Amino acid sequence: MIKLYNTLSRKKEIFKPIKDKKVGMYTCGPTVYDYDHLGHAWTYTQADLLRRMLEYNGYKIKQVLNITDVGHLTDDSDSGEDKMEKSAKEKKKNVFEIADYYIKIYLENRKKLNLEEPEIICRATDHIKEMIDLIKILIKKGYAYETEDGIYFEVKKFPFYGKLSGNTLKKLKAGARIEINPYKKSPFDFALWKLTPKGVKRQMEWDSPWGKGFPGWHIECSAMSMKYLGKTFDIHTGGEDNIFPHHESEIAQSEAATGKKFVNYWFHPRFLKINGQKMSKSLKNFLTLSDIEKEGFSAIDLRYLFLTSHYKSPFNFTFKKLKNAQISLNKIYENFSLLKEGKGEIDKKYKKEFLNAINDDLNMPKAISVLWKLIKDKKIKEENKRATLIDFDKVLGLNIEKIEKEIIPPLIEDLAYQREKLRKEKKWEEADKLRKEIEKNGYRIDDTKKGPIIKKIK
Ligand code: AMP
Ligand code: ZN
Repeated sequence: MIKLYNTLSRKKEIFKPIKDKKVGMYTCGPTVYDYDHLGHAWTYTQADLLRRMLEYNGYKIKQVLNITDVGHLTDDSDSGEDKMEKSAKEKKKNVFEIADYYIKIYLENRKKLNLEEPEIICRATDHIKEMIDLIKILIKKGYAYETEDGIYFEVKKFPFYGKLSGNTLKKLKAGARIEINPYKKSPFDFALWKLTPKGVKRQMEWDSPWGKGFPGWHIECSAMSMKYLGKTFDIHTGGEDNIFPHHESEIAQSEAATGKKFVNYWFHPRFLKINGQKMSKSLKNFLTLSDIEKEGFSAIDLRYLFLTSHYKSPFNFTFKKLKNAQISLNKIYENFSLLKEGKGEIDKKYKKEFLNAINDDLNMPKAISVLWKLIKDKKIKEENKRATLIDFDKVLGLNIEKIEKEIIPPLIEDLAYQREKLRKEKKWEEADKLRKEIEKNGYRIDDTKKGPIIKKIK
């Protein structure tokens, strides 16, 4: 039995997919006008853990990840500048180059973090037609209206608005801000399509039945998720800032258009923070993977750090925590590499404990404590311990086996061999020179009770 916290019901629920052993999952992807940062790494690692946990339980996943490469306005009130066009202007590049550049880095970072590849990765700019079709339905059904500057969704027509975030129209009105868009019937209506203002030439704009323009922020996710996963699907993921207005609006548009429930389970990890503040592009307080690599850490060190915290607790990033994570992870690798190889069996008792932890709303800190308990358990046969750790790593994704199999270049092997010989002859100084030589080449030697082990310095 799998339990999952659902933002929609605000409680842990027993997970039941629509189709027997298949799960459809949509993950809100990044807006590609700047580098992805550790906040993204956190949210996408949590989505990865969710899919790996389901796979471990025997489900087949169809995960759709979108890339927002268009029309993300700099404020939520559907006015202001377009983040993509703004970034392109600042960097003196065209918008498509900007998108391609940041997408490439984002996909490389996903690989470094060992995130499983989604079955479908789709770009908003490739789905303009699907968005226009959906908007047409909304107009026809009376949920959307046309104005001089675009098409808007009329929130008051959808009585269930607020069911995800708690932001019902009544509540919103009580805390209303000043109206800034004179074209909207209500300040809470949101844009489905924005027309390019007269006399302006945008780099990204498309023809539509209403004139040249570009899509509003939310419509892409409704159009792409339903195209690939159907009108109703199992899981939708995104960071907590996506709950409102983005996901609330997705529900309104999709359910208004289809008359069916849009998504069964909403999965929202909390923020990754730095110095108590949300890490974000706009606050410019962000660190990227390459920033932590420069400090001598790998993306997998970061992944291990993420595993030690629950996705529903806010996560405050510090380098001190990352250092401790790196030390622990290296201990796991070391312990693993010392285990006898052979035909081992997965230990049933430990597997059950591990499964209980991950199936309880992805309790990864508990799962990690099970892993350590197993590593320290002297009663378990080494071969079985090895097999069980390899099995756990299907979910953890720490590359436990791969790291061990990293090929050591013959030159390094030779230096290590010479060093060991010198040490046996008690020629410490000469031996130490060779150790330094090995380190200069990017490797290090750990002297363990089973003899020296060569490792790549990460
Ligand atoms: P964006 O690139 O801003 O569209 O964000 C893409 C995804 O990353 C969204 O699901 C955000 O909620 C998530 N995200 C961005 N910053 C953070 C953060 N500091 N902590 C957690 N998730 C984040
Ligand atoms: Zn989205």
